[in-house]
Amino acid sequence: MSERADEIAAGLADVRRRIEVASEAAEHDEPAVLVVVTKYFPPGDVRILADLGVTDVGENRHQEAQQKAHQCADLGLRWHFIGGLQSNKAAAVAGYADVVESVDRVKLVAGLQRGAHDRGGGVDVLLQVSLDAPGSDRRAGADPGDLESLAMRVGECAALRLRGIMAVAPLGEDPDTAFSRLGEIRAALLAQHPGATQLSAGMSGDLEAAIRHGATHVRVGSAVLGPRPPVL
Ligand SMILES: *Cc1c(COP(=O)(O)O)cnc(C)c1O
Repeated sequence: MSERADEIAAGLADVRRRIEVASEAAEHDEPAVLVVVTKYFPPGDVRILADLGVTDVGENRHQEAQQKAHQCADLGLRWHFIGGLQSNKAAAVAGYADVVESVDRVKLVAGLQRGAHDRGGGVDVLLQVSLDAPGSDRRAGADPGDLESLAMRVGECAALRLRGIMAVAPLGEDPDTAFSRLGEIRAALLAQHPGATQLSAGMSGDLEAAIRHGATHVRVGSAVLGPRPPVL
């Protein structure tokens, strides 16, 4: 193995162990699925990850994601789009992403449906919910009060499958407090949409807290791949 492959294998083993321990402590039937966030890292690293058994990767910038997914198409990975989405890019993203996790407004839905339809086969959708206090300088995500109308809209689209929700813990708040709120939001959505079982939450620094509060998927970058290189 190359030096880089050794490095990635070590990071991956460590994160897999953390996920296993946390999932067991939370008494989940299955460990949370690891989505390795490969943004800013080269396609060569994606190949190493696939060799090491990684099945799911995440990207947050459309152009970079599209190019990498194309370059790595032979690997059979599931590509998760986890970044801010512009409505005029939504159709293109649905053309290569198997899961779009950052659906936070109704305006994105028509484009996603069109792109998913043209590609054939359908695309999984997670609704991104904001955990920030109302009125704060908030990061991306729908207001919890707007989730139901967004879910209904996605549900009307034949090529989109509503699978659950995604969130990022706000900066400066204890992730356990934020993710416990997320657990309630998720329960309310599930009551109306029994198929929306997935919860994507938790990153390198807070995956244990997320799993404690029901995460089925964690999105981990730096703990597997090391510090991100400067923007390409
Ligand atoms: C970059 C990113 C991650 C991974 O962050 P790490 O701290 O490197 O694990 C997870 N989720 C989203 C939405 C991201 O943009």
